[in-house]
Amino acid sequence: MYSPGTIAAISTPLGTSGIGIVRLSGSDSINIASKVFLSPKRKTLSSKSHVIQYGYIFNPETGKKIDEALISIMKSPRSYTREDIVEINCHGGIVPLREVLEVVLANGARLADPGEFTKRAFLNGRIDLAQAEAVIDIINSRTEVSLGAAMRQLEGALSTEINKITDKVFEVMVQLEAAIDFSEEDLNVLPRSELSLKLENAQRKISNLLADWENGRILREGIRTTIVGRPNVGKSSLLNALLRENRCIVTSIPGTTRDIIEETISIKGVPLVMHDTAGLRHPQNEVEQLGIELSKKSISEADLVLFVVDSSDPLHKEDKEVIKELKGKRVILVLNKSDLPSAVRETTFKNILCYERCVSTSTIKEEGINELEDVVVEVVFSGKAGHAGETLVTNRRHKSSLVKALEGITEALRALKNEESEEFVIVPLKDALESLGEIVGKVTSEDLIEGIFAQFCIGK
Ligand code: GDP
Repeated sequence: MYSPGTIAAISTPLGTSGIGIVRLSGSDSINIASKVFLSPKRKTLSSKSHVIQYGYIFNPETGKKIDEALISIMKSPRSYTREDIVEINCHGGIVPLREVLEVVLANGARLADPGEFTKRAFLNGRIDLAQAEAVIDIINSRTEVSLGAAMRQLEGALSTEINKITDKVFEVMVQLEAAIDFSEEDLNVLPRSELSLKLENAQRKISNLLADWENGRILREGIRTTIVGRPNVGKSSLLNALLRENRCIVTSIPGTTRDIIEETISIKGVPLVMHDTAGLRHPQNEVEQLGIELSKKSISEADLVLFVVDSSDPLHKEDKEVIKELKGKRVILVLNKSDLPSAVRETTFKNILCYERCVSTSTIKEEGINELEDVVVEVVFSGKAGHAGETLVTNRRHKSSLVKALEGITEALRALKNEESEEFVIVPLKDALESLGEIVGKVTSEDLIEGIFAQFCIGK
């Protein structure tokens, strides 16, 4: 069992909160916790598993009480990491959590690396690699639907599918190896046509997973969306109407001269990542003065464009300038201000704009917003239903491994059908197996593992 020492970390977000958790994992964690625990009746910490004990954390060197705490012990192997785990539930807030962490570090634990708890769960065989990655996705999930997809991955839906494919390919390899070692009279080797059928089945399963990849990617990463149109057509009113009804997560990505603000709106579970909406929210600021230049950039980076026009006003020159930028983009045409007499209709755009769907809205009367949301979901999933319930590949690493596996199997099938000798079938099949193994972590390099767990934060 992988277990270099006992690790500790603050496992809840830092900030002011009612409670916070310092977690320890490793063979020495119960011992370390006992050194720093004091119960009101001076009882020592019992090592009973899966019960909660009340007491204080104190510094054994100075005798100073640090915080009131509830301690739970989860003994190996019935724990997240399969090692002995102690969770110290103390008050939230930076000071108590830091002090509790420091005292356990001073008494024999070492600070955990990012993702090290989950890494131990993987290395100790409690979860496979795809499941470990699902933990990152659960922590980062943007909407209920993406959380659902990550949960299914954690429960092993993807791993089960990959293992089934692996078994099929493996069966074929065993048959081919046997055919090399024994002549056909000695052994019941399956005919090549049957081996082909098995490989075709594996090929189809991988293709299906890859076909749904785009949906999975959208759920995990969100669809980059921008709202464009000339000034005063109602872009910020529309954004606000969408925000009012939908949960919104704001993330800021540092790295440029000024932070790029991303807002994720969950439209019926589909995450729309709205880039740089600062200009829309505060039309007076300098960002907006960059005008058309700014919208050019956001259009070029977007997967989906909501193009807003004022339907009460004939098209301006500026509308046409925006239209020029929309070539080749997935566009939803929004005819806003439908409460006013109309000067522009859908037919106005027949020969000048290529778009997916058109929706009339009035942000003032709050009409058409719900329909717009339905249209967004339909356009994003290109009319494909049932995105919520299936096994989805949501992770780029898994996707590239699947592509490699598919190449291997396709090459093996070609060799098989061309009556080439067994070796020419076996070699690409081995590559395919290796790629499939990379997804669940059966074959993994140390670098790959390091890279994956580095995406976690400390304490996970
Ligand atoms: P932006 O410059 O494109 O972001 O446009 P705003 O959202 O700031 O709206 C410009 C003006 O149009 C404001 O006075 C809004 O109240 C008004 N407006 C926005 N949506 C509607 C609508 O659906 N109907 C009407 N009648 N006015 C609207």
